[in-house]
Amino acid sequence: MPLVSMRQLLDEAAKGGYGIGAFNVNNMEQIQAIMEAARETKSPVIVQASRGARAYSQDRFLYHLMLAAAELYPEIPMVLHQDHGNSVETCKSAIDMGFTSVMMDGSLMPDGQTPSSFEYNVDATRRVVEMAHAKGVTVEGEIGCLGGIEDGHGAGLDGLSHLTDPDQAVKFVKLTGLDALAIAIGTSHGAYKFSKKPTGKTLKMARLIEIHDKLPNVHLVMHGSSSVPKKLQNIINRYGGKLKPTWGVPIKEIQLGIKNGVRKINVDTDNRLAMTGAVRKVLMKSPKKFDPRDYLKPAREAMKKVVAERMGQFGQAGHAGDYAPIPLEEMARRYRA
Ligand SMILES: [Zn+2]
Repeated sequence: MPLVSMRQLLDEAAKGGYGIGAFNVNNMEQIQAIMEAARETKSPVIVQASRGARAYSQDRFLYHLMLAAAELYPEIPMVLHQDHGNSVETCKSAIDMGFTSVMMDGSLMPDGQTPSSFEYNVDATRRVVEMAHAKGVTVEGEIGCLGGIEDGHGAGLDGLSHLTDPDQAVKFVKLTGLDALAIAIGTSHGAYKFSKKPTGKTLKMARLIEIHDKLPNVHLVMHGSSSVPKKLQNIINRYGGKLKPTWGVPIKEIQLGIKNGVRKINVDTDNRLAMTGAVRKVLMKSPKKFDPRDYLKPAREAMKKVVAERMGQFGQAGHAGDYAPIPLEEMARRYRA
């Protein structure tokens, strides 16, 4: 199947009442892990690349790996999404290269670190919407600021510093015309999301529900939503790692979100943990091995397992066959109408 718009996947997910995991990639093994998990579970797929990932892979490599995935897995509807675009220019370069969806994160200034004003955010996001929709490409925006820093992106604050204001979210959606809205409800990027099991005071699902009540038809996005399972932390630490104890977003809270308008769930850390644990295990247990495939194969398999598990938990499993691809030109025509 050709790459399709993210809007098509999210609309379909809303009809079916499920969520779709958006998994970050930097290289071939991660894309293969996601595609194998998608085939096994019959899931639609959102693959996303941060600015850091695009720089790491020189983006053309990444794009052509995605074309290879589309060729090898023709039964899987898939989206290539720019994660946390920091400026109109970044989003434009992604669209020019063939991304079918972009995030304009105008909650931060173009330095990717300084919280911006509401007016700046509206202006930048609206400009990306105009440019992207003309080509049928989907736009995700963000209101409020996530906690933490990842790939050099983030204000470095805790997750509660800039929660999304529900009334401001309503205004933001109306003024920008975006397709999907990322909200800040206490989650953070990276492995250290919560210093103990989150409660309603630190992970504000009530705020999410309030936003959904005011914007029942808007696709919500949960960022920083790895679950950071103890099991994966333990493998890393058993084989020489030194992770501090940490807690992520429990699956049942994500499932509550999915019941309340969440259609896209960003997961990166869990896959990083799974791969690193598998690599550490091989290198510690078999110090004589030096063929990269000896550790990359188990790493890829470990990531595939996590992705397949999330696809089941988010409800996207079994839905790959529901999609007749809508060409981007047709999406563009619909936006014009
Ligand atoms: Zn994010």
